[in-house]
Amino acid sequence: MDNLGNLEVITDIRSELGEGPVWDVRYNKLYWVDIEGKRFFNYDPSSGKLDEYTVGQRIGAVVPRTQGGFVAALENGIYSYDPAGNKLKEWSDTERNIPGNRFNDGKCDAAGRLLAGTMSTIGEAKAGSLYRFDPDGSVSLLEVGVSTSNGLAWSLDNRVLYYIDSNTQSVVAYDYDLEIGTISGKRTVIEIPREAGTPDGMSIDAEGMLWIAHWGGFRVARFNPHTGKQLQEIRLPAPLVTSCAFGGPALDELYITTAKVGLSESDLQQYPLSGALFKIKLPVKGIASVPFNA
Ligand code: CA
Repeated sequence: MDNLGNLEVITDIRSELGEGPVWDVRYNKLYWVDIEGKRFFNYDPSSGKLDEYTVGQRIGAVVPRTQGGFVAALENGIYSYDPAGNKLKEWSDTERNIPGNRFNDGKCDAAGRLLAGTMSTIGEAKAGSLYRFDPDGSVSLLEVGVSTSNGLAWSLDNRVLYYIDSNTQSVVAYDYDLEIGTISGKRTVIEIPREAGTPDGMSIDAEGMLWIAHWGGFRVARFNPHTGKQLQEIRLPAPLVTSCAFGGPALDELYITTAKVGLSESDLQQYPLSGALFKIKLPVKGIASVPFNA
């Protein structure tokens, strides 16, 4: 394990496109995906045990299930995944009819529903959507006209959904009805200057502040969604910072994923930790992630 001041490099994995860290408070384990590597990881920090699962499609997000195993957002739709038998089973074929699209970031709400969105893999603007997948198997379309569906986070009272379509350089907020899982009242709450990078994945801390990964920006920055102002930032020795999640037994460690996809040879020589998973201990805690409730 390398030490970069407070910042640690976790495991020897260097993902093509590391993404979607999620801390499982039930087992004190971290899961994250390598979208272009078509694989995801299951890491136990206390023992150092690392399991890798190959799924055969680009994997935008993975979340654990209450009954065991995982739900994964893949190119064609949502699948359940049983690591024991390395078995994928289709949950929903949403967007199978849009071959240019793939699923990207996803996260469960406090009721254990999965929200996950899509993006074009061929650069088509506003071709993506945001969906809600309920434990009973039903699928609901929440938003259309999304270019690169990315970070999701709920306010501490679950009455607001924060959402990033990276191409807009902004974070929007919706009123969220946790009873039925619907959104309304879209408004922009944070704008990220282009020179700081592109907003990608995000997490919320126990003070209601958002930690936003900046693709092309070498950083995760903490923002106040009530004022739109940046409060602080963590600099990383990798340009393509993709997402972050609070973890550790006390939920006071931020795990940060990065990518190396598309970097030139000289970039990779200059930033050899591109694609690594980082961890940094913080003075603020996060909130527990929620498994898919099925
Ligand atoms: Ca992302």
